[in-house]
This record gives sequence, structure tokens and C-alpha cells, in this order.
Amino acid sequence: MTDPRPELASEVVIVGGGPAGLTAAYELAKRGSTATVLEADDVVGGISRTVERDGWRFDIGGHRFFTKVAPVESFWHEVLPDEDFLLRPRKSRIYYKGKFYDYPLKASNALSNLGVVEALRCVASYAWARVRPPADQQMYEGWLVARFGWRLYNHFFKTYTEKVWGHPASEMPADWAAQRVKNLSLASAVVNALLPKRNQKDITSLIEEFQYPRLGPGMMWERCAELTQAMGAKVLMGTKATRIVHADGRAVSVVASCDGAETTLEASAVISSMPIASLVRAFDPPVPDEVRRAADDLYYRDFLTVALVVPAEAVPWDDNWIYIHDTSVKTMRIQNFGSWSPFMVKEGRNVLGLEYTVEEGDEDWTAADADLVARGAQELGRLGLLDPDKVEAGYVVRMPKAYPYYDLDYAANVDKIRAWIAVNAPNVYPVGRNGMHRYNNQDHSMYTAMLTVENLFGANHDVWSVNVEEEYHEINSRPDPRAKDLTPVAAGSSVAAGTGRAAPILPKRPAR
Ligand SMILES: Cc1cc2nc3c(=O)[nH]c(=O)nc-3n(C[C@H](O)[C@H](O)[C@H](O)COP(=O)(O)OP(=O)(O)OC[C@H]3O[C@@H](n4cnc5c(N)ncnc54)[C@H](O)[C@@H]3O)c2cc1C
Repeated sequence: MTDPRPELASEVVIVGGGPAGLTAAYELAKRGSTATVLEADDVVGGISRTVERDGWRFDIGGHRFFTKVAPVESFWHEVLPDEDFLLRPRKSRIYYKGKFYDYPLKASNALSNLGVVEALRCVASYAWARVRPPADQQMYEGWLVARFGWRLYNHFFKTYTEKVWGHPASEMPADWAAQRVKNLSLASAVVNALLPKRNQKDITSLIEEFQYPRLGPGMMWERCAELTQAMGAKVLMGTKATRIVHADGRAVSVVASCDGAETTLEASAVISSMPIASLVRAFDPPVPDEVRRAADDLYYRDFLTVALVVPAEAVPWDDNWIYIHDTSVKTMRIQNFGSWSPFMVKEGRNVLGLEYTVEEGDEDWTAADADLVARGAQELGRLGLLDPDKVEAGYVVRMPKAYPYYDLDYAANVDKIRAWIAVNAPNVYPVGRNGMHRYNNQDHSMYTAMLTVENLFGANHDVWSVNVEEEYHEINSRPDPRAKDLTPVAAGSSVAAGTGRAAPILPKRPAR
């Protein structure tokens, strides 16, 4: 409250009430600025919401609270009291042909589950790949086959990846695999399996537990919205930002629409977590054609959850989620919400969340909820995980734009948009996941918002360079919460700055 309020921070309009938008609002309200959050939906939290239906609670995916960034960690605990956090043991395995495989893969467990004959075939296929490695290792498939052999690749790498990204693994570049499956080969997996203590202390400590709000991630953002409003900020629900009006090289106001009525809010600055492509389309007067084309050339993957209520005893496994590699079903992952938090489910019952990565408007997206629920129940039966008759109720949640899509042009497109904003509306600050077209977690979204607020108060962070991951965090050493306040690195293009989290550069989508 002691900072003077510079002109930029005097009347801030924030687009989006997800983690980025609400973090910005909270930080601004703490500093005494006037902040108004526009949230198009009727719940806060964005992709990190917790959906509530008939008293059941479930996430869009499951949201682990894990960060290396000390200010983010402090924020979480400032907003929610410690008693609202659970420290959950992490367990997630691959379910394949009726057996559970440890994840990350352990050679001893994988080979014994496969059975002697298939294990020998896998070893022979591995040996063959060592003798005759694929000539082309530029792509995900060839890179992995060279390290694991065809059979293990087909069992454990190919199908899940293809379900998530919707493309043949043979068309995905290997650099992404190299980041995800760093330093892993069958040989090292066998050594690690035989010598489990060797070099693994830091790995297991990170993998084995994570924080989780007792009522799901939505609890964090509902509470954050309450606290922010108590400090004087406004959070306008069901209110969509439709136009960002700019003149003389800066944004001057935001036009918002609620129930068909339009309101104009004067803005000293606009912090935008709406998808950056939508932001471009909202500028009034419109952006030049080439900037508009860059926005139109950004794509997303969409996400669908089928949440099925089942008796608690029908789910004997305690994994938080399981990966489904089986190609006979469409689901790619199944969340076990009762295992995230017992407070998410009702006494004697559990909720399984079958996840599908889809395209908005495709046959899954447009299917009737009842059909998706029936198919989900059948898929559980086909997998041998649960008798479909045990499903007591089902709900469908559709989340558009869950994953920003990376193709060969995305970084250049984002750079073009950034460059236009920098000249024509430099007081518009894109933040967050879709806001910056970055495939990243809550902590990245929040940290970009925190640094943006500091910039409004005179700091000079290059928010586009924030990389909260540095390395794939599950194999990095445990963070020292006192040591890490990741300072953004030097300014650079979207590509040069890195994305933080690994995602494949995918083939171009057909033009819309
Ligand atoms: C399957 C899945 C699993 C995940 N798991 C994890 C995890 O384990 N841990 C983790 O930390 N993160 C996880 N994430 C990532 C996390 O969900 C996102 O990083 C985070 O929600 C991004 O926050 P945001 O505020 O940038 O954007 P969003 O969450 O997308 O919020 C943006 C908000 O803006 C609103 N909006 C959009 N346009 C407008 C407009 N024109 N006017 C007004 N409002 C608008 C939207 O309604 C939304 O509420 C996961 C994501 C997915 C898809």
C-alpha cells in the first residue's frame, strides 16, 4: 500500500479471471490501484477452475500445485491458509493391456508385466535397434526407436502421444522427445531399476508429492477473487471484453459486454489473459492485415472431460491419474478425483474423469452429453477397469483452447503480434497461457502477471522471457524456495526465450 501509484497503474482493466488475471488483480489491489477484472464465464479460475456439478467437484485435468518460483509459492499460501492445502502423494501409472506399469517406466516392472515372451521380444527389438538404428532420428519416432526399440516404443510412447497431440508420432520432431525423455535409454532404465537408490534422491522427492487445495484449484481462485474484491478491486462475472479501443499509440478503454449490454471502461493499462489471437481481433481500430493473419494462424487443442460417478469400492487403485495407451478406446488419461482429495467426492463414491484432447466442433465436441457418458462407461468396461453398469451418473465438461498449439510458424506469429502491440498499444500487457500462447502451468501464468504489475510500478522485466521451468522439473533437483526468484533473462524472440514447458512443434493445420 506504500508504493506511489504511477499513472499506468491508476485504472487497470484486466481481461480474464483465471490464475493470471486474478493474480494481477490481487497484486494491484494490494498496492492500492483500481483494478477491474472482466471474466466472460460465470466461474473464476479459467482452465484452473474446479467444476461443480450436483455437489461433485472435478478439475480440467488434475492441477498439481508445484512451483520453483518463490513468489508464486508465497502467493498460494497467502491466499489459502495452510489447513486448506493437502500434501498429496503422487501416483500415476500407465494402464496397458490390463496391467499397471510404473511411470516413469521402470525396466524391471515393465519387463515382468509384459511377460517372458514379450519381454524377450522387446529386448531383441531393442538389440536390433542398436545394431540397425533408424536412419532418420530427426523425428520423435526414430529418436525413441533408436533408444528403446520398436516394440517398447509401440507399447509405451506412440499411442498416448498421438492421442494428446492428434498427429502421427512420426511427424513430430525429436527435440521435444529429447527434452521429455532426457538421458533415458533402455540400458539406463535397467541400471536404474536394478540400483534404485543410485542418483535418484532428488528425482523421487519431487515426483512423490505435490500440494493440492482441499476443494480443488478452483478453491484458490474463488478465494483469491473474494480477497481481491475485499481490497477494493472489481471482478465482473459474465462480462466479456469485446473491444480494446486504442488511439495515439496507446489503449484508452475496453468495451465489455454483459447480457447484451455494452459498457466502456477507461483504462490506464490493460492486462490481457484472453487468447492473444482474440486480443488481436478485439483491437479497435483493427490491426493491419498481416497482424490479423498472424493471429488467425494461431491454433489450439481443445479438451473434454467425461466425469463418471462410481461406487468408491469399484476403484481399487489409488493413482491420481492413469495413462491409457490402448488404441481401442479414445480416452488418453483417467483422473481419479477421489485420490486428489477426498473432499472432492461424496461418502462411499468416487468420480473418474476420462480425458480426451479434441478439436472444438469435431464429432466428440458436438456429441450429446448422454452419448459421451455412455461411451465413457463402455470404454472403462473395454479396458477392464470397471463394469459399465456401475456408473451411476455422468457429466461432460468442454474446455476450449486448453492447449496452445505449436507449429513452425507460431513463434513468428506471436513475435509479429508483440511487435505491433509494442508500437501501437504498449500499455496492453499480454500475460498467461493463451494470453502469451505459451504451453505452461499456473505458476508461469501467475509469475508473468506479477512481473507485469511490477512493470506498471516502474520495473523493467521482460515478461516474455520468463521461463519458470528451466529444466523439466520432475528430474531437476528440489527447489530451494528461498533461493529461487527467477529473474527473466534478456529480451529475445519467443523462440529464443524458450517456452518453459516442452511441447512438440506440430505440422501446420489446414488453413481455416
Ligand atoms: C489438462 C490440463 C492440465 C493441467 N494441469 C496443470 C497442473 O497440474 N498444474 C498447473 O499448475 N497447471 C496445469 N495446467 C495449466 C493451467 O490450467 C493454466 O496454466 C492456467 O489455468 C492458465 O491461466 P491463465 O490465467 O493464463 O489462463 P486461463 O486459465 O485460460 O484463464 C483465462 C480466463 O480468461 C477468460 N476470458 C477469455 N477471453 C475473455 C474475454 N474476451 N473477456 C473476458 N474474459 C475472457 C476465460 O474465460 C478464462 O477464465 C493444466 C492445463 C490443462 C489443459
